[in-house]
Amino acid sequence: MLSVGTLEPGSRHDLRIGKSPDAPDESQMPDEAEGAFGYVHSYETSSRYDGPGLRAVLFVSGCLLRCSYCHNPDTWHLKDGTRISAQQVIDRLGGFASALRSLDGGLTISGGEPLVQVAFTRRILAAAKSMGLHTAIETSGFLGARADDAYLANLDLVLLDVKSSDPETYLRVTGRELGPTLRFAERLAALGKRTWVRFTLVPGHTDDPANVEGLARIVAPMTNVEWVEVQPFHQLGAFKWKAMDLEYKESTTASPTPDLINRVFEQFRTAGCNVR
Ligand code: SF4
Repeated sequence: MLSVGTLEPGSRHDLRIGKSPDAPDESQMPDEAEGAFGYVHSYETSSRYDGPGLRAVLFVSGCLLRCSYCHNPDTWHLKDGTRISAQQVIDRLGGFASALRSLDGGLTISGGEPLVQVAFTRRILAAAKSMGLHTAIETSGFLGARADDAYLANLDLVLLDVKSSDPETYLRVTGRELGPTLRFAERLAALGKRTWVRFTLVPGHTDDPANVEGLARIVAPMTNVEWVEVQPFHQLGAFKWKAMDLEYKESTTASPTPDLINRVFEQFRTAGCNVR
């Protein structure tokens, strides 16, 4: 019998490992009682960064990508997260709901990757909608096919992390194929689903002008994409790689310079994207 832990507040920058050693592998997450239980890293209650207004952000465990610059490798495996019930999340959210509504905010589920635990996140999003909350997920889109139309109907906004427009670069930095993310982006566009595209600018990996240009050309015609958000690489997650005894290839990678950020902004702007 798997145990149920406590939903602990915290921050995406907290290191949380080894909480559920008996958890399944993230590539084989069963729909535990159709999402009644799931694995969670932490949650924050006052983000102004992960969607409009004031956000509660739930960081769920499990990701199938292995980005070389990932800031939160402690969200990769379900076994590092805490097993909790969806009801625990929903009850906690209920306590914040009126404050979130009054500040034009809502719930964002991030990770990790929310679509690894699709039944669990589906339940929480549906409950958030029934509380009248604005809802969002942050996803790489790699598992976008798992989000059926009913799942998307409970989402007001998708924060879509597109790591690269170049298939080779994408494979090199994430260990996975680009195709599923692009197919998901096209589906969101066809549905007119409000989307913010997030692009992590990593010197030496994603900063190539042709790579940025390629992404700008893909995104510019998508009228559902309100913003392209450029996220400068930083080293705040480096300590997690060390603590987890993982080989961190970006230890000498610098944050992008203001000049580089300006160049990338200009490339998106010139292509017709709203960028920030
Ligand atoms: S998709 Fe996000 S959580 Fe997954 S490895 Fe990449 S940066 Fe980390």
